[in-house]
Amino acid sequence: MTTPPLDPTDWEALRQDLHRLLDRCVDQMRDAEDHPWQAPPADLADHYSIGAGGDVVARVADQVLPYHGGNTHPKFWGWVQGSGLASDFVAGIAAAAMNTNGGGRNHGINEMERAVIDWTRRKMGFGEGASGVLVAGTSQATVIALQAARVRCCPDVRADGGDRELTVYAAEGVHNATRKAVELLGLGHDQLRLVRADSGAMDLKALQQAIAADRAQGLTPMAIVGTAGSVDLGCYDDLNALADLAVSEGIWLHVDGAFGAWTRLADEPWRALTDGIERADSIALDFHKWMYVGYDCGLALIANETAHRAAFAARPSYLQGAAEGLAGGDPWFCDYGIDLSRGNRALKVWCALEMFGEEAFSAAITRNCVQACYMADQVQAHGMKLAAPVVSNICLFTAAPDLPADQQSVLNAKIATHLQLHNATVFSTTDVNGVTCLRAAITNHRTRDHHISEAITDVANVAQLLKGSSG
Ligand SMILES: *Cc1c(COP(=O)(O)O)cnc(C)c1O
Repeated sequence: MTTPPLDPTDWEALRQDLHRLLDRCVDQMRDAEDHPWQAPPADLADHYSIGAGGDVVARVADQVLPYHGGNTHPKFWGWVQGSGLASDFVAGIAAAAMNTNGGGRNHGINEMERAVIDWTRRKMGFGEGASGVLVAGTSQATVIALQAARVRCCPDVRADGGDRELTVYAAEGVHNATRKAVELLGLGHDQLRLVRADSGAMDLKALQQAIAADRAQGLTPMAIVGTAGSVDLGCYDDLNALADLAVSEGIWLHVDGAFGAWTRLADEPWRALTDGIERADSIALDFHKWMYVGYDCGLALIANETAHRAAFAARPSYLQGAAEGLAGGDPWFCDYGIDLSRGNRALKVWCALEMFGEEAFSAAITRNCVQACYMADQVQAHGMKLAAPVVSNICLFTAAPDLPADQQSVLNAKIATHLQLHNATVFSTTDVNGVTCLRAAITNHRTRDHHISEAITDVANVAQLLKGSSG
């Protein structure tokens, strides 16, 4: 008996199968409107259980492709999810053929990742002394950035683990990625000071007082985390004011710009929301949200390459570089983050920018901001009520402002579920001042105005329907 092979026995048959699969995939993206989220069928686990074999390409087409998360659809505005781009096909196919490990060595990915980071660096207004590393997303980028802050604060911390109690400051609406990062770095989330942000932006007086109180206690303020686009309300900290304070206090300024950093590409007035971001010591941002690139791809951008390397560079002898040959290609990206082995994330960003051009992204980002305002108008025109002002691309509202808070919460949550199940429309929900509200974060280049007006009409109708059925 011969051992089964790990390459196709018939490459031509595979080629034909792949052409068919590609046709299905291109159709699905082109006709994204006909492919909303659908609940996975109950027997999906049986289909997926390992061992059935058979015609895998056909199985992927029939049993995998239909059960996506819905975020390619033009009426998807739940959470904060990007819509995916046709350029991802180009990058995905080439990436599969190359099987690149981007941790280091002398091959094309280094230059491509540098090109992507350099473009982003310029858009964010960082100087040439900056460096970066592509990662899974803002969650990981936050760990990397705050580790760089920690090493700058305590240069020996990589060796001795540190003996000082470090503190971090962020607005009360900060994403829990910062909390997790602070936990992972061993500070403990009790050391994350949540600063009042009544106006949406961190209250500077309260921030200064918190820093002073901690210093008086003998603690060491390590980082201020500014938010550019908070996940619930879409608020932006005053980054220039935070930068002034960070400089005068000698504290690292990190910006969580997961989606909001991309207002840098938008027209005014939205662009001004991130004025001052160029003065940060680090930024965490995502390409897979408001740059619409396929999952996953985020970036940790650090203003000072020396500080970045100080936090991560370390090479055992088997990874020593060389002047030439495959072991050349210095610097290696493994010296800029946690991962040694890394996939080719740069290619999909590069393909996106080269295929569509920067202008197309600027236009789509600006349009999403305009659409959030349009949604707010539609909400009010239907007698429903905004739960917070629209700042950039997030619209929060309640469908039945006349009801008591608890009934509004129940109704809004039911509406979100109903629309997901029956109207191919995805809002998510979040709590604002004790009321569960409907929330749209528009990071979707496929959305057109008519999708928004239809969806808001549907919300109003479903609200009436559900109120009638429960009353
Ligand atoms: C999504 C998000 C994060 C986490 O980013 P991931 O890419 O999901 O890891 C952090 N902060 C904000 C403001 C976000 O919207």
